[in-house]
Amino acid sequence: SRYDIAALKEDLAGIALIDEAQVVRKRSRDFFWYSPILNQQLADKSADIIAMPRDEAEVVRIAAACARRRIPLTVRAAGTGNYGQAVPLEGGVLLDITGLTGIEWQKPGIARIAAGARMLDVDIALRETGFEQRMHPSTKRSATVGGFVAGGSGGVGSVTYGGLREPGNILAARVVTVEEEPRILELRDDAAQKVNRAYGTTGIITALEMPLAPAWPWIDVIVAFDSYMDAFETGYEVALADGIVKKLVTPISSVITPYFGALKAHCPEGKSILICMIAEGSLGPFKAIVGKRGTVTYESPSEEGPGTVPLYEYTWNHTTLQWLKSDRSITYLQCLFPHDRLVESARETIAAFGDELLPHHEFIRFGGKVTASALPILRYSTPERLNEVIAQHEAAGVFIANPHVVSLEDGSRHKRAEADQLGFKREVDPQGLLNPGKMASFVPVGQPK
Ligand code: FAD
Repeated sequence: SRYDIAALKEDLAGIALIDEAQVVRKRSRDFFWYSPILNQQLADKSADIIAMPRDEAEVVRIAAACARRRIPLTVRAAGTGNYGQAVPLEGGVLLDITGLTGIEWQKPGIARIAAGARMLDVDIALRETGFEQRMHPSTKRSATVGGFVAGGSGGVGSVTYGGLREPGNILAARVVTVEEEPRILELRDDAAQKVNRAYGTTGIITALEMPLAPAWPWIDVIVAFDSYMDAFETGYEVALADGIVKKLVTPISSVITPYFGALKAHCPEGKSILICMIAEGSLGPFKAIVGKRGTVTYESPSEEGPGTVPLYEYTWNHTTLQWLKSDRSITYLQCLFPHDRLVESARETIAAFGDELLPHHEFIRFGGKVTASALPILRYSTPERLNEVIAQHEAAGVFIANPHVVSLEDGSRHKRAEADQLGFKREVDPQGLLNPGKMASFVPVGQPK
């Protein structure tokens, strides 16, 4: 190793460490293999050692030791990120944050949660009080609250609340800086956005204050349609119906459902489907809308406990995973459609790419408007063709957040780091030790730009 790991181990005496190369290499990976490009680029990246703090005091000791010895530090939570976000590009320490768990306190509508808590555990605990998290990724059963805020964007629940970037969806974050004498900062309101989707480059999050939603009795529903656009337009109508309480509205193409394992029984051959989570009390008006063109093929209370596969594990980026289980030749894109010509725009991309790009969309709110994001399945051929497909989307007014690149900047819609995140990094990680290579435009303090 390039770093003095032996000395680091002495500094960290009493903290659980793993330096068995095989284990370290395995945990240095995440779900970047969905991208054939990243799969090549990141195959041999590994940390030197894993540190597993039990509490914030141990996080501070690890941060201090790394700063003193100039050793890179990459936070890893559940490791379900899709772009190598938790992959240590320059080795060093992998800080496993999953030892920091539990709900610190809760008031009606707000909870203060340890960053390493698993989102499913959090909802199970909250539900006893009639609340749940506003939104979660489809990886809820493994993902952590901190990993979602640092690496995710939105998911199940975003059809009602929008994504994590919407004001009010992250209330506060507690952050440990990476300096010889680490500071602990409390970021509130707007300032909390400095850690949102910064891939852990702007401080180690130890706790989050998150807004909650009423825990409705959710009903999982599948509706079958003759055509994809029937499913899409009906989903749009459901998403626009403000009186219908909903958590998930996902049209999926008939070309994709044959890859749906156990769910196939409820997906008639040749039919496109709409997957929804609807509050029990809203089922009547919901069925009045979907019944105009579709047929309900499945209806059951939502389940997400052990031994079950929640319906949402067929949506968002789980759709890609369902397909990858039997065919590794495909990959995917991340799209945001224009709200003001949504239906036309969806129809255009479907027509433009035919069988190369297989559609499923996620209705969401974005900046106060109902629109759709999408993670369409792409039959992969070459990097050049992939870039062409991306460029064609952008030319047609569909934003792409490229999931085939490692840096924040390349993956963002605007191809740059958020200015307040870049500036904040100079304060909390002046040497650039946190997840190096991910915020590519950062230059360590004191070095020429
Ligand atoms: P990790 O993957 O461990 O980390 C993610 C990033 O956050 C890394 O850069 C890491 O360094 C950083 N990080 C983690 N914890 C901290 C911390 N405490 N302090 C500072 N930095 C930290 N994402 C969505 O937004 N919506 C979806 O619906 C969705 N669906 C998915 C479906 C599949 C099948 C897969 C494989 C991924 C999906 N994702 C989705 C991506 C990912 O699962 C989520 O973003 C998830 O919330 C990441 O949480 P994690 O605990 O696994 O974080």
